[in-house]
Amino acid sequence: MVDIAIIGGQNGDEGKGKIVEYLINSAEKKFSNFLTKSVLNYRWQGGANAGHTVAVDGKIFKLHQIPSGIVRKNTYCLLGKGMFLNPRKLLNEIKELEEQGIKVTPDKFGISSKAHMTLDYHINDDQAYFNLEEHSSTGSGIKQTARDKADRIGIRFIEFLDSDLMIKILKERNFHNTEQFVNSYQKEREILDKFLVSEDEIFANCGFDFVIAEGAQGIMLDLDDGQYPGITSSNPGLPTHRPKKLLGVFKLYCSSVGIKDRPFVSEMDELQNKLHVPWGEFGTTTKKPRHIGWFDVVAAKYSIDVIQIDYIGGTCLDKLEYLHKIGEKLKICIAYEIGGQNYYKWDVSFDKRNVLWNAKPVFEEFETWDKTYVNGVLNPNAKKYIERLEELLGKKFVLLGIGPKSEELIVDNKFVSELGL
Ligand code: GDP
Ligand code: MG
Repeated sequence: MVDIAIIGGQNGDEGKGKIVEYLINSAEKKFSNFLTKSVLNYRWQGGANAGHTVAVDGKIFKLHQIPSGIVRKNTYCLLGKGMFLNPRKLLNEIKELEEQGIKVTPDKFGISSKAHMTLDYHINDDQAYFNLEEHSSTGSGIKQTARDKADRIGIRFIEFLDSDLMIKILKERNFHNTEQFVNSYQKEREILDKFLVSEDEIFANCGFDFVIAEGAQGIMLDLDDGQYPGITSSNPGLPTHRPKKLLGVFKLYCSSVGIKDRPFVSEMDELQNKLHVPWGEFGTTTKKPRHIGWFDVVAAKYSIDVIQIDYIGGTCLDKLEYLHKIGEKLKICIAYEIGGQNYYKWDVSFDKRNVLWNAKPVFEEFETWDKTYVNGVLNPNAKKYIERLEELLGKKFVLLGIGPKSEELIVDNKFVSELGL
């Protein structure tokens, strides 16, 4: 059985959804089995604060909680125990998928009994932060759900489905209008009830040929390994169920939503304002323009090392063509200059929260190109760019994204055969 996790190597929005979708499509072709589902696609963290965009057969699917594999026929999708689920948004997401012709039924979709629920009171509390400009919260109530989980007062999916039990738990917390509040979720309870599964049993008896864990956000937002305190409330770098291989996805530049709490050393100057529209850099969930920067080698190397990533994939190489069009140079950040010293490698001193605010990027420049990939040949300047990154990161890109569609990828054959695809 192949067992791999797809993990964001940067600040999220690296294009993980597309890579997951590509691998699932290949696995379905290889392992098609009409009696049972051959692929298991699960998420282990995050919630409605994430957003994946998947483009298949001319259709664009915007997913927030449901794994990318839902758009395929022979894949079972699981919302796993480390997630924070918003039941109201989940209903909307299911409805939107069904309107786009994707059936969401218990034979292809399940929700772990142990996942924690994000409820209206979490969201109301978070919205207060969301409205403050530049705050990194998506206003989705994730932090509040995580806080209740750690505080042992969270409501898990299995409890959410039992309205009497949920009333009892909330009453113990001196919650007001408990019955009314719990009853306001009656529709969600009725619709979601059929998706309740034991995640433990799914893994114990799985029999899937291909298991693919799908991360949300990225390692630099990891609760433990990210740029604390500018992090998310879960562990994008720590998949559950011990996948055998980890694939880190890196956008070939950098983007970041909300940088109030998180220094963005390689951030571009005003040039980024010319790139938001052509590069589509607006949050899938928040719709806010993302901050854009140059590829940060120091952070990327750290991400690879800190969770021991096996493979790396690069996305959005084609988008860099636009720099050629507007006559701008292409850069990467190879070091941080702090107090007159250049740091080429992540350093323990960066953990102290004021240090990176004072770091300046050290850049290396590259020639740009107009067409990334023509008749199966990578443009020589694009090739030089990729090879230099590979040299600095000490790993080869096994996948290179050259367009938004899931088939617009340059794929390393050795990688594919190692995965048995
Ligand atoms: P995720 O959260 O990591 O799955 O990434 P998002 O879906 O939030 O953002 C990635 C965006 O880039 C999506 O709109 C993708 O369709 C798009 N994308 C992914 N890979 C490529 C690529 O290689 N080229 C281009 N042009 N777009 C890409
Ligand atoms: Mg995203």
